[in-house]
Amino acid sequence: MKANELKITDIRVADIDGLPKHMILVKVYTNDPEIVGYGEVRDASSATYAKMLKSRLVGENPLKVEKLFNRIKQFGGHSRQGGGVSGIEIALFDIIGKFYKVPVYQLLGGQYRDKVRIYCDTDVDGKHTGRDMGKALKKRMEDGFTYLKMDLGIELLYDEPGTLNAPVGMLDDFIKYNAKAISHQSGSIDKSLMFGKNYEIFTIPHYATGIHITEKGLDYLENYVKEVREEIGYEVPLAIDHFGHVAIEDAIRFAKRLEKYNIAWMEDLAPWHQTNHLKKFAENSCVPLCTGEDIYLAENFEGIMQAGVNVVHPDMLTVGGFMEMKKVGALCEKYGVACAIHMAESPIGFMAAVHAAAALKNVLAVEFHSVDHPEWYELVNPIIKLENGFMQVPDAPGLGIESLNEELIEKFRKADADEAWKDTSDWDKEWANDREWS
Ligand SMILES: [Mg+2]
Repeated sequence: MKANELKITDIRVADIDGLPKHMILVKVYTNDPEIVGYGEVRDASSATYAKMLKSRLVGENPLKVEKLFNRIKQFGGHSRQGGGVSGIEIALFDIIGKFYKVPVYQLLGGQYRDKVRIYCDTDVDGKHTGRDMGKALKKRMEDGFTYLKMDLGIELLYDEPGTLNAPVGMLDDFIKYNAKAISHQSGSIDKSLMFGKNYEIFTIPHYATGIHITEKGLDYLENYVKEVREEIGYEVPLAIDHFGHVAIEDAIRFAKRLEKYNIAWMEDLAPWHQTNHLKKFAENSCVPLCTGEDIYLAENFEGIMQAGVNVVHPDMLTVGGFMEMKKVGALCEKYGVACAIHMAESPIGFMAAVHAAAALKNVLAVEFHSVDHPEWYELVNPIIKLENGFMQVPDAPGLGIESLNEELIEKFRKADADEAWKDTSDWDKEWANDREWS
């Protein structure tokens, strides 16, 4: 088929859950039966974000990726809302790679590296000590991982008297309504968190909870980190995520305690758009600051870089896809910022992150959440193989995914989801006046 004859014919989705998160896989079909593009909506999101774009894309030539991205860009937003546009953009790059028989990284300017470092998000369920976490991280090191991240948050202090102070009732509300949000690292944010009192508590920003950490609380958390370092040593990078919704001043007080433990970064210590808070942290601590997994479009990274963020954390399925990721890379170069790629998704999102990481200059590592889920690796053919904490960048066309494992997709179908790849013709009639100006 000639390039100018290729057309998008259909877009369909499949929701899976349990490996460990809710993931939404996307297929973009073409009039070449050999060429289907794979994409993915962001974790714990809605397939609607992809399906609503279908009528704007069917009949168009998928090779014109920038033109199509500019057509649908207005339907993306921050965090999960970026997932539809991003997932489609990734699928279009997969199609282009398959059509021209080149790997995606080559379409992005070629490789800075032929294998990508993977860092493993690690959490220990329930109340536990720094020693427990240190042992869990040590296991990751034994499995070959060379860059580590752990969750460390104020929930460890909930039952430690004298470690937190807060407006009366606030801690009780957090314990009662926010428990699932804290434990979601080993699973997925679910529907129940999005409604009623759960949603109300879930969405109180850091600076408005009124929760503060006492000196005794800081002692407790510092000792946790000390124990972790005693277990894993000081030679491996160690990042910290999910500190909890406390004011930036409390994060600064804790960061000062952490300077001697050589922390790779502390993550999402304030809502990313509160750049005044990020700036305050950056100016008052020597622990690197990381944020960005919820930012849609590269242009929105400039503010956090100007505020002093040291490591940006874009997600391929929120930022807008490959072209936006390349623009983030250019901003990293301009502002002297490192890039770690956030990734909590299926092997499709993972391979997209791997190709981007191969083709961006200042990349530290790509995140990974599924090391304890052997079936995650088998969701695609060829199966994903990590070697000593690295992923070899494949030379196969597109993302390097030949096919999906439909049996596993059926086995892990989300409980309340439609059958995989169900007809989406209901979305063919969707339209609006899409001009954003008059
Ligand atoms: Mg994070």
